[in-house]
Amino acid sequence: MFETLSGRLDGALGRLRRKSRLTQRDVDEALAEIRVALLEADVAVRVVDTILARVEEAAVGAMASASLTPGQQVVKAVHDELLRVLGGEPFRLRYASTPPTVILLAGLQGVGKTTAAAKLALAQLREGRSPLLVAADLQRPGAIEQLRILGERAGVAVVSDGDDPVTVARHGVAEARRLGRDVVIVDTAGRLAIDEALMREVQMVSEAIDPHYRFLVVDAMVGQESVRVAQAFDERLSISAVILTKLDGDARGGAALSVREVVGKPIAFASVGEKLEDFEPFYPDRMASRILGMGDVLSLIERAESTMDHEVAQRGVDRLRQGRFDLNDLLEQMRQVRRLGPLKGVLAMLPGVPKELRNQDIDDAELTRIEAMISSMTREERSNPTMIDASRRARIARGSGTQPAQVAALLKQFRDVHKVLRQAGVGAPSATKRRKPP
Ligand code: GDP
Repeated sequence: MFETLSGRLDGALGRLRRKSRLTQRDVDEALAEIRVALLEADVAVRVVDTILARVEEAAVGAMASASLTPGQQVVKAVHDELLRVLGGEPFRLRYASTPPTVILLAGLQGVGKTTAAAKLALAQLREGRSPLLVAADLQRPGAIEQLRILGERAGVAVVSDGDDPVTVARHGVAEARRLGRDVVIVDTAGRLAIDEALMREVQMVSEAIDPHYRFLVVDAMVGQESVRVAQAFDERLSISAVILTKLDGDARGGAALSVREVVGKPIAFASVGEKLEDFEPFYPDRMASRILGMGDVLSLIERAESTMDHEVAQRGVDRLRQGRFDLNDLLEQMRQVRRLGPLKGVLAMLPGVPKELRNQDIDDAELTRIEAMISSMTREERSNPTMIDASRRARIARGSGTQPAQVAALLKQFRDVHKVLRQAGVGAPSATKRRKPP
């Protein structure tokens, strides 16, 4: 996401960063490039103007100061500005003191509203809440069924009783109360474009259930246009915050960078893929760092914390230290790491990973293949790979849909790694002082 913007800013700021003195010309050039980068990313002109005015101020200050790193000061100013327009502090959902907390989702058709409803429900469930989904989109054929399927996948019940959206929504909230659910998420109808009928309908639903939160779901790929949509919804519905979807695509960033500044409402959540798990709170500081290519280690760590099993990770480390790391361990660790998502996504979050590497198509299929090969081995073979002869190789290849030569290559690689580790003194009890694992 934001790759083009990020790349262009990197170009403009990279040169500044390396300079020990800044001239007016350096600054003018950089500012011009930043302007083009932001406009190309479809950021609203008025937002671009405020960003540039402030960065220019910082640059003038940096030129005059005796600072050893004037370029860095400008980079910091850009970062601070991005952070400001993205909203500064992250949004926090506050739960109603008398449950359920009622959340209404509104937005145009196709923006990912129904998906976002299920994703939000799953996120609530994982936080230990007991959500209920209400399908009040009676317009789009199949919308109710779609939410039912998504709800089932998320493990959250979906209700939709009534012949009109207002009745369905009212009943849904009442049902949540009766069932003792603490969060109720109401999906409403969208249209391809804003029209009076749509606005009247969401407004009526909203008035009927008086939600604690009215979230507008906005497609980040649509850019500027989505900011206009947000303004229109805000006028009629007074939205609480925005859920930005499809940030995984080649969203140019305009929507994210304009909506807060233009509409004055925060971005609460980001949807970053088609899977139900691809949904996260929106952190302005991380997004600003990500745009400036500073990586997103915090998000990665958070994801690792929630998906990785510490005991398993520690077991891997211990087995390595003891020189007993075998293919069973490798399989276990691989599965763990892959739970973080596609490797390309993981790399993009790390700071300092060169652009070339980031843009390379990291072959997750290769990992799948390796995993399939190891899975096709017996436990015994995994702990003692030397027993794998030609006929076992052929069986493993058949079982994993690969060639015996690929199995042989994997085994050789594993042996080589072991050799290197042994040479480095890892896992060779005589060469290492056996420290107790922490
Ligand atoms: P609705 O009409 O607003 O309810 O939209 P849907 O929830 O049906 O989503 C429309 C399409 O967008 C579906 O194909 C979704 O899988 C897809 N979609 C939703 N959110 C995301 C996202 O964050 N990333 C990507 N890549 N696709 C998404």
